[in-house]
Amino acid sequence: MENFTTAMPLTSDLPNKKQTVCIFGTGDFGRSLGHKMMQCGYSIVYGSRNPQNTKLIPQGATVLSHEEAAETSDIIIIAIQRLYYDFLERLKETLTGKVLVDVSNNLKINQYPESNAEYLAKLLPESKVVKAFNTVSAWALQSGALDASRQVFVCGNDSKSKEKVMDIVRSLGLTPLDKGSLLVAKEIEDYPLQLFPMWKFPIYLSLGLTALFFFYCLIRDVVYGYVVRKKDVSFFIAITIPNRVCPIVALILLALVYLPGIFAAILQLSRGTKYRRFPDWLDKWMLCRKQLGLVALVFAFLHVLYTLVIPIRYYVRWKYNSYVLDQALKNRTDPFNTVNGWISDSYVSLGILGFFLFLLLGITSLPSVSNNVNWREFRFVQSYLGYLTLVLCTAHTLLYGGRRFLSSKSYPWGLPPAYIFSLIIPCIVLVIKFFLVFPCIDRPLTAIRQGWERKPKDLRESHNNLSGSSV
Ligand code: NAP
Repeated sequence: MENFTTAMPLTSDLPNKKQTVCIFGTGDFGRSLGHKMMQCGYSIVYGSRNPQNTKLIPQGATVLSHEEAAETSDIIIIAIQRLYYDFLERLKETLTGKVLVDVSNNLKINQYPESNAEYLAKLLPESKVVKAFNTVSAWALQSGALDASRQVFVCGNDSKSKEKVMDIVRSLGLTPLDKGSLLVAKEIEDYPLQLFPMWKFPIYLSLGLTALFFFYCLIRDVVYGYVVRKKDVSFFIAITIPNRVCPIVALILLALVYLPGIFAAILQLSRGTKYRRFPDWLDKWMLCRKQLGLVALVFAFLHVLYTLVIPIRYYVRWKYNSYVLDQALKNRTDPFNTVNGWISDSYVSLGILGFFLFLLLGITSLPSVSNNVNWREFRFVQSYLGYLTLVLCTAHTLLYGGRRFLSSKSYPWGLPPAYIFSLIIPCIVLVIKFFLVFPCIDRPLTAIRQGWERKPKDLRESHNNLSGSSV
């Protein structure tokens, strides 16, 4: 438990003389934070219900009763569950004027009407409550795995107290982020409880689309073959159908990354201003575009893997061998079809290029990469190369279909091939985008995005009347 192997901060960041900080609670978090603070030059005094029980306490720290410990420092970190805060009321006098750092989290969102920090401030109105450290885990403090979450959100009503806490955060090698007053505490307390908030919509959507297209292909390719042709091709479920579904879902999701931008452009053009909020659904959709793109990339990647194994599939080898034997037995050689050669090679080539750009988009969306490119470079990759990816992948799917959609055999039970559905949203996005880049539309849109506003009609008329009367 106490295997602390954390990196030490720079010596210049260490407190000049040993500043004493008090921590209430000798549980996992109190011990880990205390140990880390001692490594960084602080002197730690624990306030505990059992001051004599010092078994797991970091070496060098002192353990006293709550009252005695509180006397030793102006800053007291409350590393205790909110449930037990009421005992602090007994210490009201001792804690008056002191900075109380609330590090607590809850088990679920909206567990209590007010935030834990506000509750603490209500219990002890004469103390200065600051919320901090709740997004840092005891495990990260112990293992030194703080790189993933260097930011420590801090909020409180007293700016001097906040500054003191932020100094401690800095001296631990972390980055404080002042979020404002204690009103923000509820939001900060919700951070560790959120379960992939931006991923929910993309994941549910992709699962829904996968299930939908899987059953569609199952009926069209397997059930139809079984019922009408009396052929058992149920093994299609293993590779053939997933390899149809994955590119369909990938292409639809990729198009859905760009569709909200199109809606936003149309809304801004029709409103003549960018200073009006988008509807909530559009806002939320815009915020999860990166996640939509990354889920799309996963499906595209699966499609590539399924495609690479095609030559080693028993069914494919059997079909190929039968075809060759059939030609040999009939002493016939099918003539080479140059058009088919072109379609097949272009389809594969577009797929390779589309996937390459898709990967590039995924890589540039990683924070470590996006932090190293400027806004223009990021926009170039995510917008221009993004649209190019959509064009290439749509063309790849169109060529895959080739002239197949013209044949009546492609419509068992009147059901069109599934890839046709995957083309609907990308084609809509590309056609509207094509019109949006026309200078007569692009110019006003760019002006609106730079802050220009179309004046309302009556305002314009009264302005014209005014200028007319002045002439
Ligand atoms: P813990 O291991 O259960 O320790 C809590 C400590 O609170 C106990 O060791 C005990 O210390 C004290 N305590 C328990 N019952 C008490 C009572 N009735 N009256 C007074 N003191 C009592 O919990 P923890 O994991 O350290 O978490 C402590 C706080 O940090 C919580 O609010 C938690 O939400 C927050 N936090 C934890 C983590 C984490 O990774 N664990 C991360 C961020 C925030 P004594 O026996 O010394 O009195």
